[in-house]
Amino acid sequence: MKLVRVGKPGAERPGLIDAEGRVRDLSGVLDGLGPQALSDEALARLAKMDPATLPVVQADRFGVPWTGIGKIVAIGLNYADHAAEAGMPLPAEPIVFLKANSSLNGPDDAVMLPRGSEKTDWEVELGVVIGKVARDVSRDEALSHVAGYCVVNDVSEREFQIERGGTWDKGKGCDTFCPVGPWLVTRDEVADPQALALWLDVNGERVQKGSTATMVFDVVTLVSYVSRFMTLHPGDLICTGTPPGVGMGFKPPRFLKAGDTMRLGVDGLGEQGQTVVAYA
Ligand code: ZN
Repeated sequence: MKLVRVGKPGAERPGLIDAEGRVRDLSGVLDGLGPQALSDEALARLAKMDPATLPVVQADRFGVPWTGIGKIVAIGLNYADHAAEAGMPLPAEPIVFLKANSSLNGPDDAVMLPRGSEKTDWEVELGVVIGKVARDVSRDEALSHVAGYCVVNDVSEREFQIERGGTWDKGKGCDTFCPVGPWLVTRDEVADPQALALWLDVNGERVQKGSTATMVFDVVTLVSYVSRFMTLHPGDLICTGTPPGVGMGFKPPRFLKAGDTMRLGVDGLGEQGQTVVAYA
């Protein structure tokens, strides 16, 4: 299933994408797409429904496809070729950081440059959505704790991230820096999360292309690894790192300015697009 939330910011209604690509309204059968809707049992109940019995709704805007995201855990330098372009050694263990929840943004909503930003950059990523509490889970169990997958743009301000001291978090959690969606695709529809192409265009030019096949630490490893350090709860999101082609990897580096557009996608998980706007 492809689950969505459509409508104005703050007033989105839950839905699913039918076989013809239309949005079917779930607001008559679900209170919303919160953490409780992401369990295997709840998803199995939804999967039994015939989409034809649900009203078609106009998808004027997609929101983040689910609500109740308790935390956004992100993984740094998780593609060997991206670590090389960043001039960083391959990590011996996953690099884990948190993105502020206040950075969450609809998949096609504008991305706003922070005040004074000169080094805002793009990062297409595979997002992993937790469906069942994961506390110190083994690799064998890991995927059973995953509800599904989504596209994430891990927008990053490189000066704030790298040149201003301390951890990366200052450059990762700015408002609008975490576009998610358009869909939450349930894990049954993703046969192999390590065989997905990812891409990102800036102003129509393909700058990132890669495959989850070249991740340093795969999804199974990441869910198990992160769950040793913090309990993962239904609705939590893991951003699994970005392939090569980010702006700071260009010579000379390229960064976003107001008016620029990004378009990005992951195989089977849909596409998102943002226009960059000035700080306001
Ligand atoms: Zn990232």
